[in-house]
Amino acid sequence: MTGTHAPQAVDALRAAQNLLSGPEPDPARDAGHPDPPERVGFFTDTSVCIGCKACEVACKEWNAVPEDGLTLSGMSYDNTGGLGASTWRHVAFVEQGPPAPASPPAPDGRTELPLADAAQHGTAGAAAAEPPTADGDMRWLMSSDVCKHCTHAACLDVCPTGSLFRTEFGTVVVQEDICNGCGYCVPACPYGVIEQRPSDGRAFKCTLCYDRLSAGQEPACAKACPTQSIQFGPLDELRERAGQRVGQLRAAGVEGARLYGHDPEDGVGGDGAFFLLLDEPEVYGLPPDPVVTTRDLPAMWRHAGVAALSLLGSFALSFTLDALAGRTGSGRRGPRGGRR
Ligand code: SF4
Ligand code: SF4
Repeated sequence: MTGTHAPQAVDALRAAQNLLSGPEPDPARDAGHPDPPERVGFFTDTSVCIGCKACEVACKEWNAVPEDGLTLSGMSYDNTGGLGASTWRHVAFVEQGPPAPASPPAPDGRTELPLADAAQHGTAGAAAAEPPTADGDMRWLMSSDVCKHCTHAACLDVCPTGSLFRTEFGTVVVQEDICNGCGYCVPACPYGVIEQRPSDGRAFKCTLCYDRLSAGQEPACAKACPTQSIQFGPLDELRERAGQRVGQLRAAGVEGARLYGHDPEDGVGGDGAFFLLLDEPEVYGLPPDPVVTTRDLPAMWRHAGVAALSLLGSFALSFTLDALAGRTGSGRRGPRGGRR
């Protein structure tokens, strides 16, 4: 290989890797859109969310998403529980407060189980049980969760029908009339977002209001949010704005403020929908370090290819040796099978 060809080969290798993992500056162009507009997405600033659920309602109304259960969950004000086939926006309520008062000592020989303690501290696991403020006050964390429209979207990579596709805006959309209900996308999503509807098995999730974007409008949830907790716009602009907002909050003494999903170097190449959080991601029910589940596919196929080639080589060698042995043996035998 000449010195001129080497960089091209490296570029090609890099491009092939970019399809499944690593930094990817222009997913829409790589998906085949020749002249895509700027990539757009969501920046959800949870520090100003008031938990009104206008985003959930607007999403359901615009996209005609069916109701997802009308029972009271008993988990704070959260009755939708999580994202799913019929919940494309989900407002999480995390209650953080001082530890529950110590239980009276258990009678001799019995173990007191901490059931009341677990129930009091809401929906998001042990981390939420930590006292959040110096004076021991209670606080609420509210966050409107959604599909992350990953730069490397494993749901899309594994879809055999092309139902999931990358739009010209860089978002990930599932087409309900093409989905065959195979369900491959469900375990592929590292965030547990996409889900099959039990009635017919087809998969559904947020489309980032593809129809509205195509008409030059913003998504319904962002339009309805009264506090601008959900901000929509060009991704680069949103990342810059988010960086400034984190700086502002930290300067104001909000130590826990951090961004989640904004980094193009992370395990999914950065999210198209990223967040400003006030505590660890696990507190909100988000995975701390998500990785695109198809990242290792090229290496797996390479290993499988090498194994198949070695197997073929062994077969070929054994046949050749057999044939050679047969030829040598027949050369030594006479017409009636006797030795010459
Ligand atoms: S969050 Fe899950 S469903 Fe959404 S684009 Fe990423 S992999 Fe697909
Ligand atoms: S509409 Fe805005 S403020 Fe209301 S719950 Fe949704 S994100 Fe929070």
